[in-house]
Amino acid sequence: MYLAHRIRLDPNNVQATYLARAAGTARFAYNWALVEWRRQYEASKVDPAVDKPNEAALRCQLNAIKRKQFPWMLEVTKNAPQMAIMQLGRAFENFFKGRTRYPTFRRKGRDDRFTLSNDQFRVGEKRIRIPILGWVRMHESLRFFGRIVSASISQIADHWYASITVDIKDQLQPPAETQGAVGVDLGVSALATLSTGDVFNGPKALRTLLAQLQHLSREVSRKVKGSRNRAKAKARLARLYARIADMRRNSLHQLSAYITGHFHTIGIEDLNVKGMLANHCLARAIADMGFGELRRQLEYKAARRGGQVVVVDRWYPSSKICSCCEHRMDVLPLAVRHWRCPGCGTLHDRDVNAAINLRNMAVSSTASACGGAGTGLARQVRGETGPGEAGIQQPS
Ligand SMILES: [Zn+2]
Repeated sequence: MYLAHRIRLDPNNVQATYLARAAGTARFAYNWALVEWRRQYEASKVDPAVDKPNEAALRCQLNAIKRKQFPWMLEVTKNAPQMAIMQLGRAFENFFKGRTRYPTFRRKGRDDRFTLSNDQFRVGEKRIRIPILGWVRMHESLRFFGRIVSASISQIADHWYASITVDIKDQLQPPAETQGAVGVDLGVSALATLSTGDVFNGPKALRTLLAQLQHLSREVSRKVKGSRNRAKAKARLARLYARIADMRRNSLHQLSAYITGHFHTIGIEDLNVKGMLANHCLARAIADMGFGELRRQLEYKAARRGGQVVVVDRWYPSSKICSCCEHRMDVLPLAVRHWRCPGCGTLHDRDVNAAINLRNMAVSSTASACGGAGTGLARQVRGETGPGEAGIQQPS
């Protein structure tokens, strides 16, 4: 299993300039190769004697001309343009296999990154050695042990990060504390409610930051386009975004670590995040909570402990079914937080009841998976992570 640890870098001014230049070179190489790819592809359609483009040939081609045409490329590690073209090759491969859309140009301010292959850098205690540049301080040490695969150096708002991918093979962590099952109801008012009755609220500070976010984005739109003040406001906005994303990720990590550390079988709902985002009243609250991210974290963390995540079909009405007698309510508006079951008279907390139903679904689907017939409503997910970029998990 591949895991990536993202660590903030602490470069000095000279180093930060180099990192920006390397990222610029990688972006240039990527865009150059994309233009060449298109041109060569068109040429190959006209003349069958012309080869179809491929990333290895494009790398050779760039190597042959860069000294003359782009001498500034030599100021940074040659790994930066090379890896960028390899990534373009992978982007085309994904496109041809129907996994992604046609590759687009990398843009300054959005794609400020470059990648190093594992023979090009070294990781030490709270530092990373980058070619030509030397040691750059990191805010923390690499958390995973195993073969280092690659490092991606990127700028987000005004900070630099190294995302170091490590192949941890099958190193398992100690199994969950209890071998029991839990249901997790992902909520809007609370971040998550467990079938045990535990409620996890998202960080309060996030609310305050979101108010600031609204204010700042209005500021940006009020400033004159192309003005210095607009650029400054935009930079402030980007910094705030990065802070909010960090905070959200942290709280999700705490939650997923707790759940996978305590329970073996975890039932969650398969929320159609995109579909729900189209619904405006829920939209922001849900986007804040990062459901997709939480599910991803639960899946890889459970896999490392030998646990399992059972994803319950999103059409299963977990909120509307009484967890005691299975009486099914026809309607249960979102505003109703507590309700009494007309079948058995139990008073339910909406979210806890839903979580208990998810737990029961998880238990019955794993039991039936052993016995043969499944319910068809739940699907088990075990560490299905293979090598390759698609399988890389990003714990922080
Ligand atoms: Zn009931």
